[in-house]
Amino acid sequence: MKLQNYTVNVHIKTRRLLGNMFGCVVVGVGVAGKVRIRDLLTPLASSAAEIFTLKGLVSRRMLEEVQGVRQMPLEEALTRSDVQVAFICTENTSHEDYIRQFLEAGKHVCVEYPMALSYNVAAELMDQAQRKGLILHEEHIELFTPAFKQLKKDVAGKQLEEGSLHFTGGPLKSGFGFLTFSGIPRLTWLVELFGELSFKAATMDEQPEKKHSKMTVQLLTKDQKPVTWTEERAEGLSRGKHIHLRFSTCTMTELPVGVQEPVGLFMQDTVLFGSKLQGSVPPEQLQTEMSRILHCFKLAEEIRRHCQDTKA
Ligand code: NAD
Repeated sequence: MKLQNYTVNVHIKTRRLLGNMFGCVVVGVGVAGKVRIRDLLTPLASSAAEIFTLKGLVSRRMLEEVQGVRQMPLEEALTRSDVQVAFICTENTSHEDYIRQFLEAGKHVCVEYPMALSYNVAAELMDQAQRKGLILHEEHIELFTPAFKQLKKDVAGKQLEEGSLHFTGGPLKSGFGFLTFSGIPRLTWLVELFGELSFKAATMDEQPEKKHSKMTVQLLTKDQKPVTWTEERAEGLSRGKHIHLRFSTCTMTELPVGVQEPVGLFMQDTVLFGSKLQGSVPPEQLQTEMSRILHCFKLAEEIRRHCQDTKA
């Protein structure tokens, strides 16, 4: 697909607005949406998060006001000229539809991961944004966690022999899609740490009566080193990540704690999105990020197809 060699030329509209504020709406007022509203009302001082002015929120429920922010109909958000940006914080199954509508209306979009539930749709949406000269930003706050930042430093320069990442958490809420898509942050971690991966095998174990699902995926690095990704969800299972990384020189069995930062994870993401709108993120960085996002979607899709085809 042509987006594999994605060319970044998304500064057309952003340059025109450089130095201006961007009116925005938050769509979907769940856990993530409420944090976005809070952060947009109190942006990090002297950062690119300050370029946003929150004009309202969009919800399928009748909420009227949340944190003093007025609800507005979707149609109004799509047509108002002082709304240039949408933060989409709804459940995963609805992301595609909202993104299409806001891009079609000429608005920049920040969407909570995953932007879509298939590779083709993600590629199409990125293509749509590119054609319209708009930013389509996919949130990946798990890349901002202190543990991941430290792990990335610790792994740098080491030769991986074999690795595993096992994620556990409570049952998925409905509307969050297949495990590879709701779990794309873990895949993103692995790709950020070890480069592009190829799919080798996967198994899926589901016990609906216990709300238990466990997917175990065998991946290979470019050097053909095995990496196992396990995504396990069940009632009462606490949220956590367990690693086992064997390098030529040492073995890591625990995630590093990292350095706690004063800026929240969603705020860091808003700053990154704001920097993209200001045109201050280098094109090479945008290119690398988009290639990584598409690579993860491609893998997620391949694993899902395999699991569904081999389902008894
Ligand atoms: P959520 O279940 O809290 O909200 C999801 C949707 O359900 C929202 O549109 C919300 O408006 C709606 N909703 C929530 N409560 C409702 C209610 N009582 N009645 C009717 N509708 C209701 O989910 P979330 O955790 O906010 O996740 C939203 C998106 O953010 C997802 O794409 C998720 O992957 C992403 N995300 C969440 C977090 C997090 O920490 N929660 C972190 C990163 C990304």
